[in-house]
Amino acid sequence: MTQSILLFGGLLPPEVALLSKHFNVLRFSHDRDPEAVIRENRDDIVGVISVPSLGVSRSLIEALPNLEIISQFGVGIDNIDLAAAKERNIAVTNTPELVTNDTADIALALLLGVARRTMEADLFVRIGKWKNGSLGMSTSLTGKKAGILGLGRIGKAIAQRASAFEMDILYHSRSEKEGVEYEYVPSVKELAEKSDFLICACPGTAETENIVNAEILEALGSDGFLINIARGSVVDEDALLVALTNQQIAGAGLDVFKNEPHVPEALFKMDNVVLFPHIGTATTETRSQMGQLVLGNLLAHFKGEPLLTPVELLTE
Ligand code: NAP
Repeated sequence: MTQSILLFGGLLPPEVALLSKHFNVLRFSHDRDPEAVIRENRDDIVGVISVPSLGVSRSLIEALPNLEIISQFGVGIDNIDLAAAKERNIAVTNTPELVTNDTADIALALLLGVARRTMEADLFVRIGKWKNGSLGMSTSLTGKKAGILGLGRIGKAIAQRASAFEMDILYHSRSEKEGVEYEYVPSVKELAEKSDFLICACPGTAETENIVNAEILEALGSDGFLINIARGSVVDEDALLVALTNQQIAGAGLDVFKNEPHVPEALFKMDNVVLFPHIGTATTETRSQMGQLVLGNLLAHFKGEPLLTPVELLTE
């Protein structure tokens, strides 16, 4: 048996080269028949490196009889069937902490994009419109209320950055966080009502699916902006399209979508949105560190050592 790792993506070339020193690497590519790759190597595949855009389903787990570990290249594990992994005693790891700052930076980039119209401003100059007049006004961040939905690692890093922009910070999580100076708001609706910018930074779970729905967008109001760097599943996209079209909210900055890489085309025509292709962690520095952590977890597992960043598989 050739110990093989099924690689869905993410890793940069230096980390792929390192991985190849220890394992046979089977790259998952749409150029080849993915099912054939799995079928032909099913007995050899002992690990899967999954990515936010391509997870591990129960049927994939069932197709791989010798799978021992799923190492997610990312912190969110919403696309891995954890119950199926637990049933088979398959270890799961992810890459928390080191994705925090870059992802928080992207939240601020979206904030500036929608409020200060930075993307539009760039385009305005490039296509020669400046010669015919000015871009017009935008919205100031100073003194505005940033409402963070999910004050975890990334939420806190966003709060720090927004504080530096002299914004007031409010947050909602399922529990009030100890030792945090920001105002805790007990419901998402109240958070939306009180916020100028509602910023989603919670995980994608069954509980958070469509947590930002028509009612929440209505509460955010016509001067309010929605920022989502969490997961597409967190926002009811149909309700968002209606709210943006009818100017029930002022705008939206989105790094994540329900059906990536497919983005509702209606958004392309709107000038009150900024759209990023899920680039929260997409820097050379962070992606390289994530790759090293993925590799570290795989090596630890196959040496029988403790995992570096295990995901706890809870019993229901
Ligand atoms: P984290 O440290 O676990 O923080 C998540 C926070 O969300 C926790 O404080 C949690 O607090 C809160 N939360 C969980 N369920 C909630 C609910 N039902 N309602 C309200 N709040 C809830 O995770 P993180 O490292 O900050 O990452 C957060 C998420 O960001 C990831 O899961 C991932 O989906 C996303 N992400 C996106 C990118 C990107 O490229 N755009 C990059 C990295 C991560 P309580 O337990 O008190 O509720």
